[in-house]
Amino acid sequence: MRDYLYNVWSAFSSILIGLGVTLKYCFAKTITVQYPNVAPTVKPRSRGIHWLELERCIACGACTKICPVECIAVERTKPRKVDKALNVAVGGALTRYEIDYGKCLMCAMCVDACPTSCLHMGDNHDLSCYRREDCVGDFVALARDGRQTPEPLWIAGPQLPMWAEARRQAWADRAEPHREAMLRTLEGVEPPPKEGKAEKTPAKRQED
Ligand code: SF4
Ligand code: SF4
Repeated sequence: MRDYLYNVWSAFSSILIGLGVTLKYCFAKTITVQYPNVAPTVKPRSRGIHWLELERCIACGACTKICPVECIAVERTKPRKVDKALNVAVGGALTRYEIDYGKCLMCAMCVDACPTSCLHMGDNHDLSCYRREDCVGDFVALARDGRQTPEPLWIAGPQLPMWAEARRQAWADRAEPHREAMLRTLEGVEPPPKEGKAEKTPAKRQED
């Protein structure tokens, strides 16, 4: 009899404890948002998908070396260096810059290692993709379209919520002034001749 009563009490108290937890969350502040209809709250220092100032990338590979999961791939045709006067990198063409977001930890170590500070963590956290290969951010292809950062798949569709429209416009506005320089980077930019090594004129050659 004693055991029977104990089991009844145990079952009853378990139900009460469970209902207590449910009741607590019934009256708690709602933290779920109906994304993407409602804008997610992104803190200023959150680390989202990168944005890259491709025209200032010297393809040094520092980001690829420091990345703990080896998810960055960079290729160029010839060495590149920053031209301080132009504030862009000159030299060979940047032929590949990819980040595999299927692996990326959003640790920002690549950003810290970049000697030209051209790589940044962005405010886009949406990694949605249907196939593994679609999770690879191809920054060279993006630059051809005048963009600096991958966008969520759904954001290219019509009738966007207002917050998404505004964010997309902000990304486009940030990239727009760099469009020409980005395209030149894909072709390669000849470095300006060094002072004192200017090509000799015919008159100068005769003097010599
Ligand atoms: S954020 Fe971290 S994991 Fe992602 S690419 Fe940069 S170094 Fe690699
Ligand atoms: S560390 Fe910076 S400059 Fe070097 S390859 Fe990476 S993004 Fe480009």
